[in-house]
Amino acid sequence: MSFVEIESLVKRFGEEVAVAGIDLNIEKGEFVTLLGPSGCGKTTTLRCIAGLERPDTGEIRIEGEVLASREKDIYLTPEDRNLGMVFQSYAVWPHMTVFDNVSFGLKIRRVGAVETKEKTTKALDLVGLAHLADRFATKLSGGQRQRVALARAIVYGPRVVLFDEPLSNLDAKLREQMRIELVRLQHEVGITSIYVTHDQTEALVMSDRVVVMDKGVIQQIGDPEAIYARPANSFVANFIGAANLLEGKFLGREGELGDIEIPAGESRPPIRLKAPGAEGAAAGQRVILSLRPEDVGLHLEAPAAPGPNLLEGEIIDTVYQGNFLDCQVRVGPHEVGVQMDHFEQLAPGQGVYLTFEPDHGLLLTE
Ligand code: ATP
Repeated sequence: MSFVEIESLVKRFGEEVAVAGIDLNIEKGEFVTLLGPSGCGKTTTLRCIAGLERPDTGEIRIEGEVLASREKDIYLTPEDRNLGMVFQSYAVWPHMTVFDNVSFGLKIRRVGAVETKEKTTKALDLVGLAHLADRFATKLSGGQRQRVALARAIVYGPRVVLFDEPLSNLDAKLREQMRIELVRLQHEVGITSIYVTHDQTEALVMSDRVVVMDKGVIQQIGDPEAIYARPANSFVANFIGAANLLEGKFLGREGELGDIEIPAGESRPPIRLKAPGAEGAAAGQRVILSLRPEDVGLHLEAPAAPGPNLLEGEIIDTVYQGNFLDCQVRVGPHEVGVQMDHFEQLAPGQGVYLTFEPDHGLLLTE
């Protein structure tokens, strides 16, 4: 039995299917992120766990206790689920001090004064706000308010903390800092966390496991490394870090590597490339080569020993990005993005050669 179990969860709003049958198990102490574009159903999934939405079908359990089940006609209120919640809007009460904001959850649970003081102080210590306990919430910065919200969510020892895009109102620098702090805190307290975001970097940096969603369906579940290096399909490859997706025909396999043929334009023979993946593919089948811009080498002269993967193209455009250069290269009917960490003088229309190690590409079947 897993700590959190979500089974065949479906939630509709009229004709709209927000969550189309989700199965997910989360272990105690895990930090799991639901990641996907706007409208993919991640917030609705979280709200079903929180008890803010009633699932149409399926079941949600924590520690084996059924929180929601249409079939069994069980639906616990949010208060009865003992979960912590941190949302995008800080929802910090301005007319109360930091201490009163954080201790509120204990008060409504009728915890005694001594224990309230002890637990509130501990929660404030954990988020680094003990020195501001008596300050009114209006006198706090955005990051400090978010810390209050966090302390408030953990103070009564909830079984799970649910986060809905908690950092999206903060500026970029503070967001990065808070990511690190949240992970540190999560490790320190060991609290099971379910986190919703549309920001792939945030998901990859913070999570033990990432659940990539699209159109109400889970596309892939895996640790950040697996999601990044071995995306299950072209949606995941594209959503996690802007991959090049080149469509072609599967020719066959030699050991670990598959051969793909991609069209190179009308008067040119197709280009043959090698990469691992597409294990079940049959010869002649349509496959997609996923290739990250940072894994493509760009050469001004034809390389002497190019390896098995060589593409000829011409520069469309280059964009200076500070510590790297983004190039768009036309290869027949395709546009290939290349990210370079060194700077060349490149002009639109200039001929270039692209190479990549077979292991840096990945063949996908969908
Ligand atoms: P976002 O990041 O924009 O919040 P999301 O991935 O969290 O997106 P949801 O908010 O779960 O997506 O929404 C999934 C789908 O369900 C969307 O098409 C949305 O319009 C619809 N939806 C969500 N809540 C409601 C509601 N209360 N009434 C009607 N439709 C809703």
